[in-house]
Parts: sequence; structure tokens; C-alpha cells
Amino acid sequence: MAQTVKAHDLNFELFINEQTIQKTVADIGEKITQDYQNKKPLLLGILNGSFVFAADLMRTLEIDAEIEFVKLTSYEGLNSSGILREMIGLEESKIENRHLIIIEDIIDTGNTLARFLPELEKMNPASIALATFLLKPEALQHPLKISYLGIKIPNKFVIGYGLDYNGLGRGLRGIYQII
Ligand code: 5GP
Ligand code: MG
Repeated sequence: MAQTVKAHDLNFELFINEQTIQKTVADIGEKITQDYQNKKPLLLGILNGSFVFAADLMRTLEIDAEIEFVKLTSYEGLNSSGILREMIGLEESKIENRHLIIIEDIIDTGNTLARFLPELEKMNPASIALATFLLKPEALQHPLKISYLGIKIPNKFVIGYGLDYNGLGRGLRGIYQII
């Protein structure tokens, strides 16, 4: 596995190797397997970054589970905050009465989820839990309850394992930190 990689104009060094990633994912999968016996949870991956973690995590589960993905977009709107979140690919009928596990690649400020969770609650799921592979505790600005956490990292930009820098880096098998 390469120790350093370049994406566009920036250089990155290996920060979390593939073996550590897979062990972390397996540990999360084991907890979810224990917690959701007979509940057939619906994994809800937030695109684009979570697609790699979601695929790996789902394959560690030893219970029935389903998966959906949602793409969140923001645009200038007319409400007071000036920002609305649009949910592409999500309908109430998919969410209602389901045990949801939201799958995120990384939680940074928490803004994305702080805006998305109330919208999701309106769709009347049976329960909502959060699973994120990475968390930047120093950057977090919202009191989010994270049920399944992979690895806490410092407040530095990372790529790999689904995460990109302007489109590049998502396919890297390790997580790389900006140098
Ligand atoms: P939040 O809304 O929690 O601030 O940020 C969530 C999104 O910001 C993540 O899903 C991800 O797309 C992006 N993000 C935050 N930190 C990083 C990072 O270090 N690297 C990359 N590639 N994306 C990040
Ligand atoms: Mg994301």
C-alpha cells in the first residue's frame, strides 16, 4: 500500500491502513448484529462518500438488513437559514416504521446530519441510529448521538475509503491525511 499519494495539487500520507479499517468495520458490524436481532434494519447511506463503508459494513452483518442511499444537496432557498436540504432518492414509504441506521463516511461539523435528521424524523421511522466511520471531535458543532463510531481523527483533511478531494481518492484502500 502506497505510503504517500497525490490528488490534484495536494499530497497525502497513509494515516489508517486497510487492516485497521477492516478490523474497525468488523467490530461495528458485530455490535449492529447484536443490537438488531430480528429487526431487519434499513441501512441508509449518505452519498457519495459512504458507499465504500456501507458496502463493507453490510457484508459483516449476520442479520437480515436492507440498504438505501440518499443524496443530500443544499441550495440557496427562501427560508431563514438560506439553505434547504434536498433529499434525492428518499420516499416516506421506504422509511416509515423502519429501524434506520444512517451510514456516514465522516462527521465533521455535524451540519449535514443536524439538518437531515429532523427531515428524516418527519417520515416516521421506528428508530434512528447513527453510524460513522470517522469523526473529527474538534470540529463537531452539534450534539449528535453517535451509536456506532469507527475512529476519531484530528481536524485535518483526509481522503480514501470513499472520501474524495475534488473527485479523486475515493478508491484508495487506506485513509490518507493531508501533508
Ligand atoms: P459535516 O456536515 O459533518 O461538517 O460534514 C460532512 C461531510 O463533509 C462529509 O460527509 C464529507 O463529505 C465532508 N468532509 C468532512 N471532512 C472531510 C475530510 O476530512 N475529507 C473529505 N474528503 N471530506 C470531508
Ligand atoms: Mg459525506
